[in-house]
Amino acid sequence: MRAPIPEQVGLLYDKLTDAEVLHFGYWPDPADDTPVEIAATRLTDLVAEKLAVTAGQSVLDVGCGIGTPAVRVAQTTGTRVTGITISQEQVKRATEHAAANNVSNRVAFRHADAMAMPFEPASFDAAFALESIIHMDRAKALASIREVLKPGGHLVLTDMFQRNPAPEGSPSLMAQMVDIWMMSDPVQLDDYPALLADAGLELVELTDVTETVLRKTLRLVADKLREDDRGLVPDEIIARLPEEEQARLMAFPDELAASEELGCLLLVARRPEA
Ligand code: SAH
Repeated sequence: MRAPIPEQVGLLYDKLTDAEVLHFGYWPDPADDTPVEIAATRLTDLVAEKLAVTAGQSVLDVGCGIGTPAVRVAQTTGTRVTGITISQEQVKRATEHAAANNVSNRVAFRHADAMAMPFEPASFDAAFALESIIHMDRAKALASIREVLKPGGHLVLTDMFQRNPAPEGSPSLMAQMVDIWMMSDPVQLDDYPALLADAGLELVELTDVTETVLRKTLRLVADKLREDDRGLVPDEIIARLPEEEQARLMAFPDELAASEELGCLLLVARRPEA
């Protein structure tokens, strides 16, 4: 299993703090054309619901980006939220975002590696990880999250997985994503039950959300690119594409959106009661 060096992932994200949207949206109805920014909040709200927390409890956001989901979860659930990220720049941005939303008394961010967390065991009532475990050694990350969860506490996460092999004779789009986005080796959906069992977590729900989450997000990114709006595809990411990929940049998100290779999953797990 290959996984990137956390500090290097941190340096990548240090350069990406201006990207507006770092996570996917949710469109339960295929005919719904809600913009990605709003659909992203809808995905956060779905995740918040599945955390099964009550006001006053404490939640961990693993790989918190610039803090948008953490602030939203704190607002909608009334919990205290601690976000960790491997990017120093994101800690600053996220802290500003909490202040701008007047939740600094309940939402805090710090620089930490999810695979070696600086928290006492059983510190949190629940945890979530949105598109962050893609960068980690999943076995290590899950074990380390289990450790800081209270017994009975839920973990909710999204992950990308290899849904189908690359078509014969074509380059693997998943392999390119792994390269460009500094992801760890891809898994399949069916790998999750064993990953959870090894980490000492119980499976509550494992759903393939490729159609309702990933494909639509990619289509909207492709549309925006066609309109030459690069807000969703940061220059730093474009620069990481192989030269021939840069040349056909306009086609890449379209190809990704049409591909049967990439999948997205939503997982709910629980630390067993003692
Ligand atoms: N969850 C956010 C950001 C997703 S981007 C959102 O949905 O908007 C991926 C995030 O994972 C980044 O914040 C990155 O810093 C974080 N990350 C990647 N590897 C990490 C590690 N080993 N420890 C902690 N955070 C990590």
